[in-house]
Amino acid sequence: MEEKKKKEKEHVCSICGKPSETVICHACEDKIRGEALEKKKEVEKAGRTDTGRR
Ligand SMILES: [Zn+2]
Repeated sequence: MEEKKKKEKEHVCSICGKPSETVICHACEDKIRGEALEKKKEVEKAGRTDTGRR
């Protein structure tokens, strides 16, 4: 049974592939969160620019 457990996919980060208890390790989670925030900012910025455009 233990062998089967070993053969099964270990929990690793789907981003960096490092062993992690979660699908995405905290380091990558932070990174993604930061990128998402930046994207959000960009969208907001674009929206504002679009609104200002005639
Ligand atoms: Zn990671």
